[in-house]
Amino acid sequence: MEKSFLIKPMLDEEYPVIDYGKGVYLYDVKGKKYLDAASGAVTANIGHGVQEIIEAMHEQAKKVSFVYRSQFTSEAAEKLAGKIAKMTLGELNWCFFVNSGSEATETAMKMAIQYWQEKGIQTKTKILSRWVSYHGITLGALSMSGHPGRRARFAPLLEDFPVIHPPYCYRCPYKLEAPGCNYLCAQDLKVAVNRIGAEKIAAFIAEPVIGAAGGAITPPKDYFKVIKKICDDHDILFIADEVMTGFGRTGTMLACEQWDVIPDIVALGKGMGAGYAPIAATVASEKVMEPILAGSKSVMSGHTLSANPQSCAVSLAVLEYLEKNKIMNEVECKAVYLQNELEKLKGMFPFVGDVRGRGLLLGIEFVKDQESKTPFSRTAMITQKIVSIAKEKGLLVYPACAGIDGVNGDAIIISPPLTITKLEIKELIFLLKETLDLLKVQIE
Ligand code: PLP
Repeated sequence: MEKSFLIKPMLDEEYPVIDYGKGVYLYDVKGKKYLDAASGAVTANIGHGVQEIIEAMHEQAKKVSFVYRSQFTSEAAEKLAGKIAKMTLGELNWCFFVNSGSEATETAMKMAIQYWQEKGIQTKTKILSRWVSYHGITLGALSMSGHPGRRARFAPLLEDFPVIHPPYCYRCPYKLEAPGCNYLCAQDLKVAVNRIGAEKIAAFIAEPVIGAAGGAITPPKDYFKVIKKICDDHDILFIADEVMTGFGRTGTMLACEQWDVIPDIVALGKGMGAGYAPIAATVASEKVMEPILAGSKSVMSGHTLSANPQSCAVSLAVLEYLEKNKIMNEVECKAVYLQNELEKLKGMFPFVGDVRGRGLLLGIEFVKDQESKTPFSRTAMITQKIVSIAKEKGLLVYPACAGIDGVNGDAIIISPPLTITKLEIKELIFLLKETLDLLKVQIE
């Protein structure tokens, strides 16, 4: 092969060249088949090569692919905003389209700060978040992220935003169990607000299920209710980062629905374009938009390709496909089956520590010892080994961080396209078992 000038994640590694994708499978140019149990990076929610989406792209391209948002709007963008308003909770009605999850969370942060400014309050500029968390790679989004690995190089450039503990029940910092724990990790928010002063805090941001930074850390039942009440009681906006969890990943349009909580602002991405086009969104409630509409009348953010008609047409087609095929309704049933099968791995492999998640966003945390939950040493490189053995076997899983500090732990995410069949789930489990069998031999 000719010398490559493409900057890939690891410059000393060889990457297979993908030829095409169909359903849950990807095929490389050498003919090797991969079962995509990660949907890329929790993105290809409806699988690869869906004809309806390709046709929608084609139809839009025949009309117009680009108009600049400061000059025009488009039918595709208007329709998509209307549909998202209808499909999201309560008064989450206003869509600001961007191109990546990082832009969506960064816009959410800016919107929250602007909301308070428009109400005449200039001091509320801090965004609270959790350690561990991941909200994106741009500097604003990274400032809100409790992801040590991705922050380290740029630490001096990041805002020093305060953080609280996540709802990490497997490694509860208080050594308690829900619901008897009284949700102390959520109560942490009140402690932090009292310490910092509500007059300085614009918003609190959280992923409903913590993805890349924690390996699908899932909150106990009333966690988000406690969080939302603390936010409301202290005049702090609640931003749900649903970049990974939104668009049906957990079986509902937003994962927040599962816990009966309505955020003030939501960030969407990944599944929105399902990998067919780069598109993401910041969705704001009527409450957030009210002072902006009455005040400056403009959200101070935007990108050249914001509300791109081509991407909006794709996202609209993805939503229609999800609806027409009732895909979200089937997630729960598939997820229960898959999660039960993953649970069985604990009995087969002494290093499978925890299985967790919601809907088809599941995580496995690996430990040296199930009883003590002792993590493997960093030099053992367990996550990397699993990902690479699995890939060799034709199974794609998503590497995640784990551990209370977001460093000392190993986890993977299993998040196949929502369209996966029961037979394909069986194949996924078979390949995963083969992967773990090989890992067992390597670490013994
Ligand atoms: N927020 C969450 C919860 C994510 O998982 C990610 C990406 O993994 C992002 C934000 C950033 O999205 P993007 O990579 O599209 O910028």
